Amino acid sequence: MNTRELWQSALAEIELALSRANYSTWFKNTSIVKFDEGTVYVGVPNEFVKDWLITKYHSFILKTLRDLNEHVRTVEYCISKSNDNPKKDVEVGPTEKQPFLRLPFSETKEDGLNPKYTFQNFIVGPFNELAYAAAQAIVNHPGAQYNPLFIYGGTGLGKTHLLQSVGNEIKRRFPDFKVFYTSLERFSVDYVNSMHANKINNFKEKYRKYDVLIMDDIQFVSGKEKTQEELFYLFNTLHEQNKQIIFSSDKHPNFILGLEDRLQSRFNAGMIIDISQPDFESRFAIVRSKVKESTSFISDEILEYVAESVQGSIRELEGVLNTILMQSQLKGRVMQLQEVKQLIKNNIKTKKNISLRDIIKIVSDFYGIEDAAIYNKTRRKDIVKPRQVAMYLLREDFDVSYPAIGETLGGRDHTTVIHSYEKIKNDLTTDPVLMKEVAELRSLFT
Ligand code: ADP
Ligand code: MG
Repeated sequence: MNTRELWQSALAEIELALSRANYSTWFKNTSIVKFDEGTVYVGVPNEFVKDWLITKYHSFILKTLRDLNEHVRTVEYCISKSNDNPKKDVEVGPTEKQPFLRLPFSETKEDGLNPKYTFQNFIVGPFNELAYAAAQAIVNHPGAQYNPLFIYGGTGLGKTHLLQSVGNEIKRRFPDFKVFYTSLERFSVDYVNSMHANKINNFKEKYRKYDVLIMDDIQFVSGKEKTQEELFYLFNTLHEQNKQIIFSSDKHPNFILGLEDRLQSRFNAGMIIDISQPDFESRFAIVRSKVKESTSFISDEILEYVAESVQGSIRELEGVLNTILMQSQLKGRVMQLQEVKQLIKNNIKTKKNISLRDIIKIVSDFYGIEDAAIYNKTRRKDIVKPRQVAMYLLREDFDVSYPAIGETLGGRDHTTVIHSYEKIKNDLTTDPVLMKEVAELRSLFT
């Protein structure tokens, strides 16, 4: 993003928030004249405008710019005559090609752990009991056995939940332990960023000090030779010191595309356990416990029906359950079995046959925008959100890889996609309107 693009995006946001008159009075003929070490210099036509922006709009301008670009620290204002045409649109950020990952604020937590994932709300059944037992052994004696532990299984079967629970539980039992949860993709972004910033030593130091390193979704290694090399050395260092390492993947290490042999053999030397599809009893136990956590009531008869007919992943099971809970809230009453049957009938048709284009069409129709806009580069607010939601759903529900999503949606860098995904994921925990929208969208993918 260069300075001109940054300012245009900012103006687009500002315009939305102000009256037309205010916007044109104070923001016409402004520009970014310079970006230097985190300071954005906004050029304005005269002293009067400068004072006004400082007193009235400074924090808004700053926030808007920061939301658009993580490198922005402060804003200064200066009077600039030729401010319509700054000489050069310099890139904003340390280097031009540097990918960067902007984590949503609440996820910048040092250890990457989300306290909502615990063993307390993790249901154990035949499909995951081995993985659970290994996880328990690890929280009892981190680093002592099962090192590395490698958990694999299809998407939505509880890998992240289990890994996060291990991290949270170790932290609880061993408050002095440095626990760190990340994904291979984040690790890779961190590595590339450190390289570009000439901070590779900091990077190495940071990761080598952990007592417990948890790395999720390592199936996305292909094409990341440098990251794999770094991971290999890091692994050896930690492993020699009996630091606990845990990985997850959607496949057995022997089937991960592009995984280096030496890493593969390290994984094979540890403990490899799969999580399979939950059986009926487990599905029933899961939906029952989820309903208990919610404030709504669903009869056991209905829960049995749900557990019986939704045979996919736990994530799908949760999706259907949420749809039912939502409907029951909308209607303000308990759902009848017959209604649930109808709902599920509409929901459970195979999702697999739906194309990426269809998904984007559904999302854009839902938000009342042209689907073409999702594919192009516009940053209009009414487009940005649907696009981010589309990215989120493609990743979360359809397992499309970040790079593939980026490529399809206007040639965006995969780090942008990661950011969008994480933003929506995060917003979903706090924004009931968004929750409802996503639930409704999911019910449309039939
Ligand atoms: P994965 O990482 O394998 O794709 P997740 O860990 O994200 O799957 O799980 C998908 C959803 O299902 C999450 O909301 C998670 O909390 C829930 N879930 C998974 N396994 C269990 C379980 N054993 N008990 C209760 N909820 C579970
Ligand atoms: Mg996961």
